[in-house]
Amino acid sequence: MEQKIPYKIYLNENEIPTQWYNLRADMKNKPAPLLNPGTGEPMKAEELYGVFCEELVKQELDNDTPYIDIPGEILDFYKMYRPSPLVRAYFLEKALDTPAKIYYKFEGNNTSGSHKLNSSIAQAYYAKKQGLKGVTTETGAGQWGTALSMACSYFGLDCKVFMVKVSYEQKPFRREVMRTYGASVTPSPSDKTNIGRKILEEFPGTTGSLGCAISEAVEVATSTPGYRYVLGSVLNQVLLHQSIIGLETKTALDKYGIKPDMIIGCAGGGSNLGGLIAPFMGEKLRGEADYRIIAVEPASCPSFTRGTYAYDFCDTGKVCPLAKMYTLGSGFIPSPNHAGGLRYHGMSSILSQLYDDKYMEAVSVPQRRVFEAAELFARVEGILPAPESSHAIRVAIDEALKCKETGEDKTIVFGLTGTGYFDMVAYENYHDGTMEDYIPTDEEIQKSISTLPQIG
Ligand SMILES: *Cc1c(COP(=O)(O)O)cnc(C)c1O
Repeated sequence: MEQKIPYKIYLNENEIPTQWYNLRADMKNKPAPLLNPGTGEPMKAEELYGVFCEELVKQELDNDTPYIDIPGEILDFYKMYRPSPLVRAYFLEKALDTPAKIYYKFEGNNTSGSHKLNSSIAQAYYAKKQGLKGVTTETGAGQWGTALSMACSYFGLDCKVFMVKVSYEQKPFRREVMRTYGASVTPSPSDKTNIGRKILEEFPGTTGSLGCAISEAVEVATSTPGYRYVLGSVLNQVLLHQSIIGLETKTALDKYGIKPDMIIGCAGGGSNLGGLIAPFMGEKLRGEADYRIIAVEPASCPSFTRGTYAYDFCDTGKVCPLAKMYTLGSGFIPSPNHAGGLRYHGMSSILSQLYDDKYMEAVSVPQRRVFEAAELFARVEGILPAPESSHAIRVAIDEALKCKETGEDKTIVFGLTGTGYFDMVAYENYHDGTMEDYIPTDEEIQKSISTLPQIG
């Protein structure tokens, strides 16, 4: 007999994982190494120490250690807002009239409103431990900047945030949350850095991009003593920290003997998805189990589905190491769509390799269909989802509707990465019918991809 599954599967505090899981340890084809843009050689740890904290560099380059202890101070912080619930979407299932069983892992239950706090607290901890004064970063929609400013205020670190200009202007409340936690926030491109001034000269009136804000933040970190740069997605270390999402999800599912058929997550730089799928992908890589794993990206910034797998610059200013990834080209500036957290031109090297090796699938969805799903979800499940998260909702709903046609009772797990309270302008556009589905042409993508560095 099927055990009745509660609406929320909560774990208790002692069930929070005490180690992160490093998916790379189980990959036969390891993600390609970061390259020095000058020499084309793999970056050595010492070369990265000027940009990133030492312990984080070690995590970044560690392809072999499967489990890494979570330091006690980070675990203490996690206990303020974790474990996060795994929710059975009974009301959504009913609204869709589907035999599918839908679960979502909800990461929006903290003030920053997203999963990003899981990595920001780790990165701030290692910066503090190294005796640094502060960190610099970029933020798109503002979730990462918010998460980092919370983490920095907790550890008494200074925090300088470069915020993509379009978001800085559209989301004044985000900005003020960051300043409440003590961060300084600068719209990017700015005239405070060489690279910012150069980009402003070349593209006056640009609304900015993550790639550009990264360049500015790196420039300030490497030219200010006692500062390092931290990044909220894409990097291996961030996926490592985010594995807490997947490990908790797996523990909760195992409690009730639930085996998912598919796992769905939105993918900007790939950190929430990489974290959510980590233990499941581990089983898949070791041949112990099989799952369909689906990355969802916006049709306006389709790195997996329309990008190229190649070495590229991580930032517009070309100051960062080269990473091999699915990319639209570092000069790609997506239309100002409303999922700021999904506007990055590239993708995690780990997920890129797994995708290239066919361990996972990817789909892209236009934003009006995303908001349609967001609104349905809000009305039946109560949570007001972030536009980014709603990409996963869209595809979870689509898959559940397929089950309705075929009569299959598949089990779907998706990542609900955050809440959308700061995205009400986007909801307003959707409600007023002024939202557009911008999809780049092949020529636009080709133009941007043609500027990839020539490597190998
Ligand atoms: C940043 C963000 C994302 C996308 O980032 P990933 O690194 O791909 O996870 C998704 N959802 C929310 C709510 C975010 O803030």
